[in-house]
Amino acid sequence: MNIKPLAAVLCLALLAGCAHQAPRNPLATWVPSPNHDERRPVIIVLHYTEQDSVEQSLLTLRTRNSGGPVSSHYLVGDDGGIYQLVADGHRAWHAGGGSWGTITDLNSASIGIEIDNDGVEDFSEAQVDALLRLLDDLTTRLRIPRSQVIGHSDLAPSRKIDPGTRFPWRRLAEAGFGIWPADDAPAAPEGFDPLQALRLLGYPLDQPEATIRAFRMRFRGDAGSVLDAEDHRILHALTRPDGAGLLKPTSLQ
Ligand SMILES: [Zn+2]
Repeated sequence: MNIKPLAAVLCLALLAGCAHQAPRNPLATWVPSPNHDERRPVIIVLHYTEQDSVEQSLLTLRTRNSGGPVSSHYLVGDDGGIYQLVADGHRAWHAGGGSWGTITDLNSASIGIEIDNDGVEDFSEAQVDALLRLLDDLTTRLRIPRSQVIGHSDLAPSRKIDPGTRFPWRRLAEAGFGIWPADDAPAAPEGFDPLQALRLLGYPLDQPEATIRAFRMRFRGDAGSVLDAEDHRILHALTRPDGAGLLKPTSLQ
């Protein structure tokens, strides 16, 4: 072999090696630093699959399905089996359009957990136990605040209803995940602004009726579109600056 083909082979080998490195910005001079790690998600989004079996969902979440490719980091089966489909440091495609607080690209900022449930049945004990174990692992290992667990319908109220009215949010809060109002939290004071409280929690308010329905699905178990005095009490409890209106985890009481 003369020198020219050898150089070409070397060049190709180098290019192949480069293909596995993160793209660098050609505008800048590359001066690499070892002081970095993977991107960290800051919030966890819960979904139900609205499908009949974990096998069906494993297929949907790993293929180019009819509505476009979707995925999640995890899938929790109704027998308590936990499947991981996307690494924690990578961006799964589960949230779609929506917002929560100032976060407008939820897929970049979150871990997505699909829960095997058809949208009608109850969530099984084994499944909720497995979810709680997974939430404990994720919030501890990735240092995600335990309160930062929301539903898909919270961030996309006009498009989504999962994880639905049967999802046991109170039980999650008793275990220390997400938020729930304390039973003895007092009524909201005169002049309380419920929409401002919804915004403070993180809900998008571009379509307020849809947001109210999403709030009521999560905290009242129905999808009513008018806020009543109990909703005001709940919203006041959830947004008190001192945190005194929140249900305390059972183990801490
Ligand atoms: Zn969803």
